[in-house]
Amino acid sequence: MSTNTFKPALIVVDLQEDFCPPNGSLAVAEGRETVAVVNRLLELPAFVLRVATQDWHPQDHISFASNHAPKKPFVDFATVVNPLNPDEPSYETQLWPDHCVQNTPGAALVPELDPAHRLDEIIKKGTNKDVEMYSAFYDPFTNPRVSDSGLAGKLQAAGVTHVYVVGLAADFCVRCTALDSLKEGFTTYIVEEGTRAVNGAGWPEQMQGLEALGVRVVRMDGPEVALLKS
Ligand SMILES: [Zn+2]
Repeated sequence: MSTNTFKPALIVVDLQEDFCPPNGSLAVAEGRETVAVVNRLLELPAFVLRVATQDWHPQDHISFASNHAPKKPFVDFATVVNPLNPDEPSYETQLWPDHCVQNTPGAALVPELDPAHRLDEIIKKGTNKDVEMYSAFYDPFTNPRVSDSGLAGKLQAAGVTHVYVVGLAADFCVRCTALDSLKEGFTTYIVEEGTRAVNGAGWPEQMQGLEALGVRVVRMDGPEVALLKS
């Protein structure tokens, strides 16, 4: 592959205190163990853009079970209606414990991330209280879209061809980010060692589903990562 057809970007999804043990309110098992892998990726010379995201919710966010008492996190759902168009079909979204509330310690990126400050940009998502936004790109509504981070435009402006996704959690925000990356036309990889799932037991099946849709789940010792070293 010639260099003019390979312009990779790295998207580091939600490596935040609330998603990591030991203190995160929505800690993903082994979540903090992804950081060393992510830092190794950040060092690789080929990336033309290195972006991190932060889940960044207002306290009244629709995904917090506490805003839907007596509903419970992890087991109950809420209906999301497009606040700009109530006629667009609604969707059901899983409820969570309060997490990543704007300007709280739990919303901070983990301090071990990127000690050399190689990140080009940090994008905040989930800022609109009325919609869930797992993806780093935009919320699920399309008619019209409610919240758009501008990430697609930034990747296009940088001439990006390939997107490598890591971070938390594999089965929610990483998965949705990868699917939207694919939809935007980028060859899309998830680096397996750089992510962990909320539901670890269900992740192998989710991986198969992603592969069936065209996202490739790759390994640190695989050829897709080797390409980044030159
Ligand atoms: Zn969230």
